[in-house]
Amino acid sequence: MVNRKVALWLIVALVVTLGLAGCGQKTAEPATAKVLKVGAETTFPPFEFQDAKSKEYVGFDMDLIRAIGKQMGYKVEIVSMGFDGLIPALQAGNIDVIASAMTITPERAKKVNFSKPYYKSGLSIVVKKSNTAINNFKDLEGKKIAAQIGTTGAKEAKKISGAVVREFNSTADAFIELKAGGVDAVVNDLPVNQDYLKKGGDKDAKLVGEVLNAEEYGFATSLKNKELMGKIDKALQDLQKNGEYEKIYIKWFGKRTVK
Ligand code: GLN
Repeated sequence: MVNRKVALWLIVALVVTLGLAGCGQKTAEPATAKVLKVGAETTFPPFEFQDAKSKEYVGFDMDLIRAIGKQMGYKVEIVSMGFDGLIPALQAGNIDVIASAMTITPERAKKVNFSKPYYKSGLSIVVKKSNTAINNFKDLEGKKIAAQIGTTGAKEAKKISGAVVREFNSTADAFIELKAGGVDAVVNDLPVNQDYLKKGGDKDAKLVGEVLNAEEYGFATSLKNKELMGKIDKALQDLQKNGEYEKIYIKWFGKRTVK
């Protein structure tokens, strides 16, 4: 009788153990890993662009958001789209976060939740090398300017008196138009202009004038998702403290110019 009772308990214990082991296995499957859907306009080097060989999305923002995702325990998935489609995609719930060199502006902050700033930037002008008439923002009055649609560069260009502003889907298209002589200047983020010139654009184009508007980039989530932004900010802070942010910065910009 005693033996039968012991045997029964052993069987119960065995069944429970196997059951728990099964559960454990299930939660470890990658299919159940949390996914962070990241929206980006991926023709904006060195922040986000497609690697010619691997076809992967690479750049400063891409490395940083992947590191943030890892820190949070999420699998990062990059969704490429037009810059002017990013905020609507966030509002529609098609993406969880924007990582696209997006400048924190009061106007955008009404529609999205911004992270703490992660990069200091500013606007600058690119003209043809042969152009001696345009040397600053004031000289752009009455001129033809190309900019990327929906950007702070386009907004700034529209403030210039008498200027005709042509908006392009990508910065690359704006540079092509400058080269073709369709516009007199491109107004765009300084690090992206510098990258364009460094990668061969300086054969027939140059940077002129002052750097306008201290701009700061932030990641953005939906206004409804305060909790997610809390986790992103915490992870960003962790990476700034543990030196990971610094490593990514040096990888893409060589040395630290601004803190
Ligand atoms: N920083 C600029 C803006 O927020 C441009 C960003 C971009 O083109 N990816 O408008």
